[in-house]
Parts: sequence; structure tokens; C-alpha cells
Amino acid sequence: MPLAEKILAELRRVVGDENVLVTPEDLIPYSFDGTAALQQMPGCVVFARTTEQVASILRLANDTKTPIVTRGSGTGLSGGSLPSPDCLVLCTVKMDKILELDRANLTMLVEPGVTTLQIADAAAAAGLFYPPDPGSMKISTIGGNVAENSGGLRGLKYGVTRNYVMGMEVVLPGGEVLWTGNKCVKDVAGYSLKDLFIGSEGTLGVITKVLLRLIPKPQAKKTMVASFAQMDRAAEAVSAIIAAQIIPCTLEFLDRMTIHCVEAYAKIGLPLDCEALLLMETDGHPAAVAEEAAQMEKICRDIGCLELRVAKDEAEATKLASARRAAFSALARVSPTTILEDATVPRSELAKMIRLVEAVAKKYNLKIGTFGHMGDGNLHPTFLTDERNKEEMHRVEEAFKEIFDEAIRLGGTITGEHGVGLAKKSFLPKFAGNAQMRVMRELRRALDPRAILNPGKMFD
Ligand SMILES: Cc1cc2nc3c(=O)[nH]c(=O)nc-3n(C[C@H](O)[C@H](O)[C@H](O)COP(=O)(O)OP(=O)(O)OC[C@H]3O[C@@H](n4cnc5c(N)ncnc54)[C@H](O)[C@@H]3O)c2cc1C
Repeated sequence: MPLAEKILAELRRVVGDENVLVTPEDLIPYSFDGTAALQQMPGCVVFARTTEQVASILRLANDTKTPIVTRGSGTGLSGGSLPSPDCLVLCTVKMDKILELDRANLTMLVEPGVTTLQIADAAAAAGLFYPPDPGSMKISTIGGNVAENSGGLRGLKYGVTRNYVMGMEVVLPGGEVLWTGNKCVKDVAGYSLKDLFIGSEGTLGVITKVLLRLIPKPQAKKTMVASFAQMDRAAEAVSAIIAAQIIPCTLEFLDRMTIHCVEAYAKIGLPLDCEALLLMETDGHPAAVAEEAAQMEKICRDIGCLELRVAKDEAEATKLASARRAAFSALARVSPTTILEDATVPRSELAKMIRLVEAVAKKYNLKIGTFGHMGDGNLHPTFLTDERNKEEMHRVEEAFKEIFDEAIRLGGTITGEHGVGLAKKSFLPKFAGNAQMRVMRELRRALDPRAILNPGKMFD
């Protein structure tokens, strides 16, 4: 149902007619995000271009108690930007300017709709490096990355989005604009509010500017792929690499199902006669890279890898890395519905978790491909299913419950990077416990007393 005409008229006044969508045909693309089996029509979609417009929209939503769901590119995998019924979707993709690149302080100031790739490219053009690289980086926005505290393939060595946010501008529900953080390397004045907004999934405020930390570009990089006859062997290689005190920038794995789907999709020439592939990248000073690559190669061979391929040049490195980057898209071709999760455990528990995922797939007779950030203990068990098959979807739900229960039991978490949103809301209380849930609820109430921001997400 469209929003009240009075509210729509005010929105049109603030952002112009062309930036307010109301017809069902226009709204459908905004009725879902990257999460499978979730769809809900919004009341309208509004594109803002400035902080002042965002503030006016939030003031209006607050005064009229209109639910508001902030949206970047809608690639989220936990239903974070899924509209609530008849809500106002506030889309930030037109706030897409890189405002400043400060070479003296190694920072970049951007609007929230700039894509992750644009940031990485702009940093690279200045001879600098912005490491967070979610698989969706070609289209995901920095606003979405910050709101989800997104990770990527380089998380093991370089950390996640949080490690590169120095400050931000946020609009609060009543329309007040707040700046938190700055270009100082050190700053302990007051609570670190920026850290509260990172990973807040659009529930505490709307991020309208982000000040990012850049680092020097690594001078060299080496990429290699090793195949293993058993998944345990690949996990053993990861443990041995870390135990040797090597922290590669990438340590990713693909299981048999994922390898076959990727090869059918991207025709990279991957070895098919194996149970697991490890993608390894080390970067930094050329001498250190050469030494670490040689050590990693030796570790893999000593553990008995079947085959090890070292990229000869940048083109081959990109091709090998694309095996991992294509994993989700390749699996998504196999069945009508792809449900991807991101249970995460301490690295030492990874082999147990992988075995459990395999056992659960057998127990519930489900098709599953698993890949992920092995060095981070971050798994992406991906169920290949069909949401029209209610009985199978029930088995998928039961399988996920077992996976999340085991992740918690092993000292892990229900989500390593995709967020809670709607998809994992029911698992949060068990993971977080009463005290954390109470504090989170009180914080949310303090910042958004009228409960207009992303209602029903993360927790009620
Ligand atoms: C193929 C594929 C690969 C992916 N790979 C990864 C990966 O490697 N690592 C990873 O972490 N994630 C990954 N994701 C998930 C997703 O891309 C990330 O969560 C990403 O950060 C979402 O960005 P977005 O712009 O699409 O945000 P959206 O999906 O539009 O929104 C995500 C959340 O952020 C909130 N939000 C968005 N903008 C703002 C803002 N300006 N202010 C306040 N809140 C805001 C929304 O309300 C919502 O809760 C992947 C997704 C896909 C489809």
C-alpha cells in the first residue's frame, strides 16, 4: 500500500518527483535483497543526494512514525535491507561521491553510495590500498559495508571494514546530524560511537559520510592453489601455515561441490579430482612474499596435497582468485534457491565444523556446497534448494539450527560477516545471552525511541 499522500508530497518536495518511486513496477526491484526466499513490498522508495535531504526524510518519518529501511545496493545476505510492510525505503546509491583523498593523512572521505570497488580503485590510482574486498565489491556500497561490518577475502591479514573506518557522519531518527571520529590516529575522547554504528545494520542511524583509512599498497603478491584428497588435509595445511607464523592475505577454500560448479561456470581449469581446494595469497615486500610462498608451498606438499599451482603472472593470479570469487554465483546456478550462511568458529575448530556440515547435509538429505574464508574460520555452507518445496525448506531450517547450535557450542558465532538482519534474528538471543540483549535493546531505544529504523531487524 502506498504511503499517505501527505507524506509522499513532502518527500517529493524534499528530493524532487523523480526521486520518489511509488508504482508497483518501480517498487518490485526494492522488495528483496540478496537473501533467498524473502520478499516484501515497500510503501515507497526515496533516493537522497545530500545529508540535509536524509535529515529531512528522517524527521518526517519520525514525526509520522513511518518505518524507514535504509538501502545501499541491496546485496545483503541476511535480509537487512528487506522492506518492512509499507515502509519508506531510503536508498543511498545516488550519494556516490568521493569527497576527498588526503595523501598526507592516508584517508579518504566518501559518501555512502560509493561502491567498494570505486574506493579500492581510487586508492590504487593514488598508489594506496583499501583492503576490505567483499565478494560483492563491484556493486556493494560503503554504507552497506559499514552497516554490516563486511569482511572479504583479505580479512585474515588485513581485518574487516571496521579496521578501516576512522570516522563517519550519521543522521539520527529525529534528523540530528552527528559526526564521530576524525583523522587522528589516536583519539580516546568519550565513547567510540563510530564503533557502535559499525555493524548496526541500519537500526541506529543513517550513515551519510565515511572517513576511511588507507594503507600503503603491498609491493608484491603471489597467488597459488593447492588441491587435497580430503577436506581435513586442507584444514591441516591451514593450521600448519598459521602455526608457522605466516599470515597470508588470503586463505580460502572450496569443497568438491563448489569446485565442480565453479569449473562448469567459469572454466578456469581447476583440478576436479579432489575434495578440497585452497586458494592462498601472500603479499608485502618482495623478499618476504617469496619466502612465505616457498614455506606455504612446502607445507602443502609435506601434508600431501595432490597438486599445487603457483600463478606465473598477474593474469593467472586473477584467474585463480576468480575461482573463489565466482563460488556463490556458480552455486546459485544449480538450483532455484540458494541459501548461503556464514557460521564462524575459532580456526582450531574448523575441521570439526566442516565435518558437522557434511554430516548434517547427509542427515537431512540436502545438497550443499561449502566454501569460505578458511583462515578466518568463516564457513559459507550453501544450501542448493527450492523454496517452493516446503518439506525440503523445513529440512533446510532444521539443518541450519544444527549448524548454528554447533557453531555456538564450539565458541563460534552465528554470523561472521553477513549480519543478523531477519535471517538470523531468531538465533541472536541464544548467542548473545540476556545481558547483551538487554543492553542492545536499551541502546536502540535511546537512539531510536519511536522505533522507526529498520523495525523488526536484528531483534524486536
Ligand atoms: C555475491 C555476493 C557476495 C558477497 N560477498 C560478501 C563477502 O565476501 N563478505 C561480506 O561481508 N559480505 C558479502 N556479501 C554480502 C553483502 O554484499 C554485504 O553485506 C554488503 O556490505 C552489503 O552492501 P549493500 O550496499 O548491498 O547494502 P544493503 O544490502 O543495501 O544493506 C545492508 C544493510 O546495511 C544497511 N545500510 C545500507 N546503507 C546504509 C547506510 N548508509 N546507513 C545505515 N545503514 C545502511 C541496510 O539497512 C541493511 O541493514 C555478498 C553478497 C553477495 C550477493
